[in-house]
Amino acid sequence: MILGNRCTRNCKFCAVGHVEKPLPPDPAEPENLANAAAAMKLSFVVVTSVTRDDLPDGGAEHWARTVEAVHEAVPGILVEVLVPDFKGDPAAIDRVIRTRPAVFGHNLETVPRLYPDVRPQADYARSLAVLRRSAEAGLVTKTSVMLGLGETLEEVRRTIDDAYAAGCRIFYAGQYLQPSSRHLPVARYVTPEEFDAVKAYAESVGFGFVASAPLVRSSYHEEGQTAYVRGQHP
Ligand code: SF4
Repeated sequence: MILGNRCTRNCKFCAVGHVEKPLPPDPAEPENLANAAAAMKLSFVVVTSVTRDDLPDGGAEHWARTVEAVHEAVPGILVEVLVPDFKGDPAAIDRVIRTRPAVFGHNLETVPRLYPDVRPQADYARSLAVLRRSAEAGLVTKTSVMLGLGETLEEVRRTIDDAYAAGCRIFYAGQYLQPSSRHLPVARYVTPEEFDAVKAYAESVGFGFVASAPLVRSSYHEEGQTAYVRGQHP
């Protein structure tokens, strides 16, 4: 996770600490991360960040320098980015898109009805627009949601439809777990059979790769996804 460990947003499901003004980005971070990827001989790396609404570009330049540094340090490596919404700023989003990550991820997290409770500083349409921009630029585009926050399965199906229409071809769903008593309670534990039904629906819509099970997380190591992504980057 880059750009620090304090976030300018305060999503009600997330254990990352919140401050109005986090520390400035570490200018050495892109190189350090690239060196770490090289030292560990990684072939696939997932990079994510906090949201930095305090920075004029939302941290997009730092993001791009990080992906570029990893690409340079480890030829052939596949980089999956899990980016914030950059407040929907097209220039910021495009700065990351131009680095051509193997996977461009941005999480919808939940269904639109629950945004005010779950992601109060986010916007469902804005997040869909981020995904659409990536897909229209030709990137393999991915999104993830948590189940068990009070959504209905019909709402999940509509969100799957929206994600597919935006151009996403990888979809993940996992069970929400409450990080502490200060976070949103779990509304319900979704059964493995319901996760299977979500997977079947997403596959029927046309997604190229779907992971849907209670313990799935958006950066969950999934060999099937790696195979799918490699197939998109022969
Ligand atoms: S924007 Fe991301 S890191 Fe920040 S609180 Fe929300 S989920 Fe957590």
